[in-house]
Amino acid sequence: MYNRRKFVKLSAAGASLSLLDKIAAAKPLVPPQAAGYPIVISTWGFGVDANKEAWKTLSKGGRALDAVEAGVKIPEADLTNHTVGRSGYPDRDGHVTLDACIMDENGNCGAVAAMEYIAHPITIARLVMEKTPHVFLVGEGATQFAVEQGFKKEKLLLPESEKAWKQWLKKAEYKPIINIENSKGLPGNQYNHDTIGMLAIDAKGNISGACTTSGMAFKMHGRVGDSPIIGAGLYVDNEVGGATSTGVGEEVIRNVGSFLVVELMRQGYSPEAACKEAVQRIIKKKPETAKQIQVGFLAINKKGEYGAYAIQKGFSFAVCDKEKQDLLIDGKSFY
Ligand code: ASP
Repeated sequence: MYNRRKFVKLSAAGASLSLLDKIAAAKPLVPPQAAGYPIVISTWGFGVDANKEAWKTLSKGGRALDAVEAGVKIPEADLTNHTVGRSGYPDRDGHVTLDACIMDENGNCGAVAAMEYIAHPITIARLVMEKTPHVFLVGEGATQFAVEQGFKKEKLLLPESEKAWKQWLKKAEYKPIINIENSKGLPGNQYNHDTIGMLAIDAKGNISGACTTSGMAFKMHGRVGDSPIIGAGLYVDNEVGGATSTGVGEEVIRNVGSFLVVELMRQGYSPEAACKEAVQRIIKKKPETAKQIQVGFLAINKKGEYGAYAIQKGFSFAVCDKEKQDLLIDGKSFY
């Protein structure tokens, strides 16, 4: 039946659109049946098991948001992992403080930072997104919110981490170490920072991402890196793709790294080229600092194409799709 109100609305909208806009509106950027869905990618060697967990959701047609939350909870719970979650190394004062953020296909996001006593920061980040009018809760406020949501406060400083911290206190030198990260699952005492950043596209073509870390080992109390900061450690735009980062967060924050990578993909860069450009900006601004540190970006576009790039060699990332669930790839690097 002819609906005049609808017609008036449509013609008004039509009048303000150019021909190109109309064509773009008629055709989605990538058709939903595009190859490569579902898919999940994540940073470092510990991403392999995390991806497998995410795949349980994705392979059944589940939502990317549920997949990334479930996936990153694997390293968060892993007692041999001293850079993410429960078993993370403490700050210089002996506090284990955790950072995480999550973002969905609708641009919703949630984050927690410098949160103590709660082992799964990613879940609290999701609850901030879904149950509060806010995006970011930090410190005691984040812990208080988690407790209100029914989570138990736990002592997170495990004996092994305490031992490493006491050892560190002897010199108390803050020196992030490059190229001994957990790219191939090295034992815990051999690395002092790493993050899991995960990006997934579900069967419907929707993208979500999650990022979680204990940050730099022996950092100053209260220090927050890039990982829980939307736009720095993680960014998702469902029309374009998603990006995440790992490494010395201060340099990623200075360059709003993950947002930059997504915006470069919007301009037509491939995921790897976008990651490379973001890395080069960090190097260009502070060439001397960049020689001493690691930063890596990982990205996926709406077609399911992915890529990574790091300052230093040794940055690996895990990929899981219907062809192969345990792929670990060595990312390219500037040096
Ligand atoms: N990006 C993390 C931070 O700065 C550490 C890492 O990924 O290595 O807290």
